[in-house]
Amino acid sequence: MGKLYIVPTPIGNLEDITLRAVRILREADVVLAEDTRTTSVLLKHLGLEKRMFPHHKFNEHAAVEAVAERIAAGETVALVSDAGTPGISDPGFLLARTCIEHGLEIETLPGPTAFVPALIQSGFPADRFCFEGFLPQKKGRNKRLEQLREESRTMIFYESPFRVVKTLEQFTEFFGADRPVSVSRELTKKFEETVRGTLAEVADHFRAREPKGEFVIVVSGAPGRRKSNQQEEDEA
Ligand code: SAM
Repeated sequence: MGKLYIVPTPIGNLEDITLRAVRILREADVVLAEDTRTTSVLLKHLGLEKRMFPHHKFNEHAAVEAVAERIAAGETVALVSDAGTPGISDPGFLLARTCIEHGLEIETLPGPTAFVPALIQSGFPADRFCFEGFLPQKKGRNKRLEQLREESRTMIFYESPFRVVKTLEQFTEFFGADRPVSVSRELTKKFEETVRGTLAEVADHFRAREPKGEFVIVVSGAPGRRKSNQQEEDEA
C-alpha cells in the first residue's frame, strides 16, 4: 500500500520549507498541486521534476476516489497547496477523510501556515484560540459574527486585501471599537508588517494606507469573559 503525505509549503519565504518536505516531494510518485504552475516554481527552486496533477476546490470532489485508488495500488502521493498547509483554508480535508475511510495511511508533515505566526505576533493569549479562516462573504456572515460576539478566545481570520477595511469596520460594529486587534500582512516576505491597536485605530490605519498583500486578522477575545486554563481548573 502507498501513502498520502500532506506537505506544507512556504507562505512566502522559500527558506521555510523543511528538509523532510523536500525529501517527501523528491520521493513521491506523484504530486497533487492546487495550482501546478505555482508548484512548478517551487519544485524548480528545489531542483525537482515531478509528475503532477491538479487538485483544487473545483475538482477535488470528483478526484478523491481516484487518488485513493492510486494509493491503494501502492503509489506515494504528496498533496501540496499554493502556500502553507493543505486543509487550512485550502483543499486537503476531503482527500484526508477519503483516505482514512478507505483505511489508507496518511501522514501530515508539520510546516508553514499563516495563522500560527500571526497569532504569536499578536501577543494575545495563545493557550486557547479559534481559527475562523475566511468569513462567509454574504449569506451567514452576520450570523457568524453574532455567534463570535461573546467569544472569549483569541480569534483568527483570513482576509483578502480588498475586504480588510470593510471587515475591520464590521468587527468594530460587532466587537466594539475598543477591542484590541493585530493585523499581520505579508508574513515571511519582504514587506512583512504587523499593525496592533484597537479595531477603530487599525481600521483608520488601513483606510489611510491602501491594504496590499496577504492578511491575517487576529482579534482579542471578549473582555472580562476570558478565563485562564488555571482559573478554569481551580473552579472545576
Ligand atoms: N493554506 C494556507 C495556510 O496554511 O495558511 C492558507 C491558504 S488561504 C487560500 C490564503 C490566505 O492565507 C490569505 O488570503 C491570507 O489570509 C493567508 N495568508 C497566506 N499567506 C500569508 C502571508 N504570507 N501573510 C499573511 N497572510 C497569509
